[in-house]
Amino acid sequence: MILENPYLELFNRQKNNQFKVGNTTYKERLKKLKALRYAVEVTYKDRIREALYKDFKKPQLEVDLTEIYPIVSEIKFVSANLKSWMKRQKVETPMALLGSSSWVTYEPKGVCLIVSPWNFPFNLTFGPLVSAIAAGNTVILKPSEMTLNSSRIMAEIVQEIFTEDEVALVEGAVETSKALLQLPFNHIFFTGSPAVGKIVMKAAAEHLTSVTLELGGKSPTIIDKTANLSHAVRKIAWGKFLNNGQICVSPDYILIDETVKEAFISEFKKQLKVFYTKSTNHSADYSRVVNNRHFDRLVNHIENAKQHNAIIEIGGVSNKTENFIEPTVISNLPEKASLLQEEIFGPILPIKTYGNLEEAVAYINSKEKPLALYIYSKRKSNINYIIKNTRAGTTAINNNVLQYSNHHLPFGGSNNSGIGKSHGFYGFEAFSNRRAVLKQHTKGATEFLFPPYTTMKQKLVD
Ligand code: NAD
Repeated sequence: MILENPYLELFNRQKNNQFKVGNTTYKERLKKLKALRYAVEVTYKDRIREALYKDFKKPQLEVDLTEIYPIVSEIKFVSANLKSWMKRQKVETPMALLGSSSWVTYEPKGVCLIVSPWNFPFNLTFGPLVSAIAAGNTVILKPSEMTLNSSRIMAEIVQEIFTEDEVALVEGAVETSKALLQLPFNHIFFTGSPAVGKIVMKAAAEHLTSVTLELGGKSPTIIDKTANLSHAVRKIAWGKFLNNGQICVSPDYILIDETVKEAFISEFKKQLKVFYTKSTNHSADYSRVVNNRHFDRLVNHIENAKQHNAIIEIGGVSNKTENFIEPTVISNLPEKASLLQEEIFGPILPIKTYGNLEEAVAYINSKEKPLALYIYSKRKSNINYIIKNTRAGTTAINNNVLQYSNHHLPFGGSNNSGIGKSHGFYGFEAFSNRRAVLKQHTKGATEFLFPPYTTMKQKLVD
């Protein structure tokens, strides 16, 4: 029994309120979501942009596209579909259960915890919140301690729209998160690193709490020799340096057919100048590494690569006072280089070559299952070969990152890159229990099940 926990009282208030929230109609839930949408899209929009600029110089257009738009479009999608998602789903009943009918209802899980990372603070906190509210849960939110300007605004929004026994936001770092994880939540939705995902899952096991784990890892991009290179370069340069490479579905490294590597690099150089001019540090369209700790981690990767005699093909320059690292492309890395071992989560792109597709596929399969795997190719047989012989949470073909934004697709990883799915119906499902109901309509139809087990009853079963 948990007697001393700073969040127990809040948890109990939500627990006591869970049936009131859980029994709300779809219209009542949509009213809450509409208020959240209005706050994000209208009343707090400028302050959200300002907070993200202060947190890591995120350009305004990127804030609009990757923080505000995903929440608004998720709310729109839920609003258009919630009524039908909440309806009971009739299922068939076998002959042996004659006289009864069966259905599935999506009932709320109850009191939920959402723990989120810093890289898209609004999107990755309010996105799951939309699904949790749609499914009729009460929620405690714990955003990251690394983007304080953003979490302050989120706290204000939550206080304005919800009572604490419906939705509450708790600010704090690891100790806060650990204290919350001791409580017997009905569901935990965690977005963050695989290492912390394991801590969350262990804590959840104590109460047999269900989990959704949205994790990360190294997402490969395969470019074969048939790929349209200039098309691939534009997509990858955008997908890699958006949010300064701090995206769970960023292309982490390139696996390219050795015959097209040089052409790819020379196109990439040109494209970066088009996106960010010659002096990226003056470009208003290039954000920054989130803090000094992550800056040091990334610069150490570059130093480690140099020690291994890797080739810095593009960039490499950095400035600690601004947490600025140039868009950097590095090739000729030995396997033991840290850039090929750890998730990069920053503006550094390693390039590895392969001789044939079997080699590329074997390399991917020697690592943990990725959250995203990207394929650039014009040849259908190559695309099919890669998909059939690898495993990944998500894939985009001749594009990257954008698979995240289709509400009709489940989003999430597999094993080390995650457990469970989110977005659209899949998000609603993650926060719901599929309750099975069987209703007996006729008296006596199942009488043959009861003792005494006569010979006649035995014959019926035979
Ligand atoms: P993180 O795992 O360090 O932190 C995430 C959250 O967990 C934060 O709120 C933090 O306070 C909390 N936390 C940290 N250490 C903890 C501990 N020991 N015990 C309990 N709670 C703890 O992740 P991050 O650095 O904020 O984000 C980067 C990681 O998140 C990357 O691995 C990235 O790939 C992943 N990510 C995944 C997705 C996805 O949707 N799959 C999205 C964004 C980021």
